[in-house]
Amino acid sequence: MKHLVILGGGESGIGAALLALKHGYTVFLSDKGQIPPRFIQTLEANRIPYEQGRHTTDKILMADEIIKSPGIPDKVEIIQLAHAKEIPVISEIEFAARFVEQSTIIGITGSNGKTTTTHLTYHLLKTAGLKVAECGNVGTSFARLVAEGNYDYYVLELSSFQLDGIRHFRPQIAVLLNITPDHLDRYEYKMAHYVASKFRIVMNQTPSDLFIYNANDAEIKMFMNLARFQMQKIPIRVPLKKPILNGNKLTKVLHSSALEPKVAVPDFDMSACSLQGPHNYFNASCAIAVALKLGIQADVIQKGLENFINAPHRLENAGMIKGVSYINDSKATNVDSVFWALSAMPKSTILILGGLDKGNDYSQIEALVRKKVKGIICMGIDNQPIVNYFGKIVPFCVETRSMESAIAEATKRATKGDVVLLSPACASFDLFKNYEDRGEQFKAMVRQLAH
Ligand code: ADP
Repeated sequence: MKHLVILGGGESGIGAALLALKHGYTVFLSDKGQIPPRFIQTLEANRIPYEQGRHTTDKILMADEIIKSPGIPDKVEIIQLAHAKEIPVISEIEFAARFVEQSTIIGITGSNGKTTTTHLTYHLLKTAGLKVAECGNVGTSFARLVAEGNYDYYVLELSSFQLDGIRHFRPQIAVLLNITPDHLDRYEYKMAHYVASKFRIVMNQTPSDLFIYNANDAEIKMFMNLARFQMQKIPIRVPLKKPILNGNKLTKVLHSSALEPKVAVPDFDMSACSLQGPHNYFNASCAIAVALKLGIQADVIQKGLENFINAPHRLENAGMIKGVSYINDSKATNVDSVFWALSAMPKSTILILGGLDKGNDYSQIEALVRKKVKGIICMGIDNQPIVNYFGKIVPFCVETRSMESAIAEATKRATKGDVVLLSPACASFDLFKNYEDRGEQFKAMVRQLAH
């Protein structure tokens, strides 16, 4: 019988422990920090031995195999000791995939847009009546779903850390959205290492598998030119910096011999979809490509696009007050996200910006602000960087230090047809618990005023 040691008592660790137990392994779970009480309850209810607040080396190195949480870097001592003893160290994704060989795995990775694309892909498959589950990086872990259910399709959101811990994991459909510098501290500050990590998603694919990728992304293009890949491919060409809709139609972005038989790919109408903006049309194109490949009919996909509800705090419609629409994009904690949010906005936008500024470079959004923003409302403890940058660029730039006064300023200044957009470009910890709290407060106040 195999003995498994699981490092990290978070969602993925607990999921892996439950799955291992189900398949007759002996398990020991170790977390150097504190394990959340709800997970301790699960461990105890299932009589899974564990420790917290320390890693006991002797106990850990007894493992036949170690499952490491994606949050633990490779360089920590206990992992180095395991390597020295040649104990395989894998991720929970690798482990869980062993038990679903009959199912189809759709793996989705990228620097931005993972959650949105994962949700939409899941939704399109679900709308078509398939037996599908969604899991991964956020939410329920893959291992827990495999332990608790039995699905034909798994749509997995994958971070690069999760991909670092795979060996044989092979998604039948892999999606790579984009690669921009992120988490470089875990990759020796080398972009090439980070790119290689993202491309691990295809490393075990065979000629019968499919790779859907962003053909306009410079890093992806470069890697594709260097490597010889045998799987089928669908390059998605959505020019992110210019309008791509033909009327309201998403058209001609999905042409590939991988979509045989060569039926003409239909146009999809995005006007009734809650996902707006060029980045979201790109995300939608990827999800549509997956659905088409799985044989889902165009009219079913169109219906799915129309009744899709995205995860909250991402360009979420918060309500309407006196003809002014309020949009919650609290998840936008960097300037890049605000760029995409503004790209999706009409001309007359009042932008609520600010919070904990991590050294933002606002030049990236200056042209869009000049074109579309009628005024800025700063909402943070230190608003100076924003006032310095935009004070002379926009007709008004007012300072506030709470959600309440930010909304009061917005309602005072907005006129019918305007949009008030909360897309702060900053972390939220100066005034709020987290970005969810910030978005919830925004929505609650808008709801209150709408009545
Ligand atoms: P992730 O799960 O990768 O963090 P999300 O779907 O939660 O991605 O989106 C986070 C933010 O990233 C969004 O608010 C948006 O600003 C931006 N974004 C989404 N899709 C894309 C994309 N395809 N390209 C660039 N940025 C994107």
